[in-house]
Amino acid sequence: MADFKHEDVESLYEMLENLGSGHFGVVKKCREKSSGSYYASKFIKTRKCKGSRLGLDREQVEREVSILQQLQHPSIMRLHDVFASKAEMVLILELISGGELFDFIAEKEALSEAEAIEFLEQILEGVAYMHSHHIAHFDLKPENIMLLEKSMPNPKIKIIDFGLAQKIEAGVTFKSLCGTPQYVAPEVINYEPLTSATDMWSIGVITYILLSGISPFQGETDSETLTNVVSGNYEFDDRYFKETSEMAKDFIRELLVKEPKDRMTAVECLVHPWIKPLNRKQAVNRSRSSINMKNFKKFNARRKWKLSYNMVSACNRLCRMRLLCNQPRAEEDLRQCESDQEEECTSPVSLLRRRRSSCS
Ligand code: ATP
Repeated sequence: MADFKHEDVESLYEMLENLGSGHFGVVKKCREKSSGSYYASKFIKTRKCKGSRLGLDREQVEREVSILQQLQHPSIMRLHDVFASKAEMVLILELISGGELFDFIAEKEALSEAEAIEFLEQILEGVAYMHSHHIAHFDLKPENIMLLEKSMPNPKIKIIDFGLAQKIEAGVTFKSLCGTPQYVAPEVINYEPLTSATDMWSIGVITYILLSGISPFQGETDSETLTNVVSGNYEFDDRYFKETSEMAKDFIRELLVKEPKDRMTAVECLVHPWIKPLNRKQAVNRSRSSINMKNFKKFNARRKWKLSYNMVSACNRLCRMRLLCNQPRAEEDLRQCESDQEEECTSPVSLLRRRRSSCS
């Protein structure tokens, strides 16, 4: 079990600017007073009592902490320290300052498949490591793939947000309705047992988007997206895939497979000829094929717009609830509101975004 500190986090760390926010709290840059080193502190509101509508169950945060403690890999964000008080828990995390991978790529003029694969390979190595420790992430999506530093010559990938991650134990069936519609596998929507193969579906979706700038199952609404995922039907439309190699399409075809046990594993992906070419011809093929940058930039702009729209909607709801009137408490209330908002939703789509699960 994690070694939680019970003193005030601010007695050991100086809190600096906000880095981001999630459904259950904010993430701030901070400086460890003793060493002068910089970290990211993730504040997570916890439920005051079992029946409370606000915050996360303590056990869920403890699970996230315990999983992070088991993972030490260059492609995975590290946990440095953890604090617990009655109302919240604070995770002190490795500071990842290069922003999201998709934003970094969208700033480029052009990107060959070979260059895109350098990033994908790092993601796959992190995922293969995680899966070898019987841990599945269950929330792989562009927002959770960041760069340690973007000014380095070969930027390093970091997988973040282990809030939905689970230890997959032999003989224990795990089911969950968690995730983000665009990236979830059919077994999540069908409430069937989940395994590490569930992450591999999400990697298939991420790769598809990276190459074409379109999302394979995206519908007009979340419900339509979920229906498309369950049908498992998608295509490589020539309008978006004309610059894509056949090897890349084959790679995706082996991941977007409805039956989880028939999907490539992360280890198998790492030796797929698109990732590790078997001969010079295959290597040249990758360098000549490129990602559809014009469309990718459009996809990324829409994605960012949607993320800010969701944040603004949450704030508007907050205003309606008149929580913002009390300025000194605004930040703390925002954390509360976001988790409250989750609890208010009851549609199947909203269920997909909740941290709820069941084991049997
Ligand atoms: P979700 O709403 O997806 O459940 P969450 O509450 O679990 O989110 P995270 O996704 O872990 O929170 O973090 C929210 C945001 O904070 C991230 O999207 C990212 O921008 C920023 N962030 C998280 N961890 C770090 C880090 N270690 N370094 C820098 N920024 C970070």
